[in-house]
Amino acid sequence: MAVPKQKTSPSRRGMRRSHEALPVEAHAECPNCGELRRPHHVCSHCGHYDGREVVAAGKALKGAVRA
Ligand SMILES: [Zn+2]
Repeated sequence: MAVPKQKTSPSRRGMRRSHEALPVEAHAECPNCGELRRPHHVCSHCGHYDGREVVAAGKALKGAVRA
């Protein structure tokens, strides 16, 4: 079994973990109702996209927006 020759210092461990942060989910404001929605996605609150209603309001897709 391969064994590390040296103990990883707290500094080196921190440098490695500096790249492990999760990215913030992209979001944009809906121009119709002002709710947060994902860019290029139908608004899950009012069902609007590109200035018109494409999905009946209230019947929005579950899980379309993680807000
Ligand atoms: Zn909306």
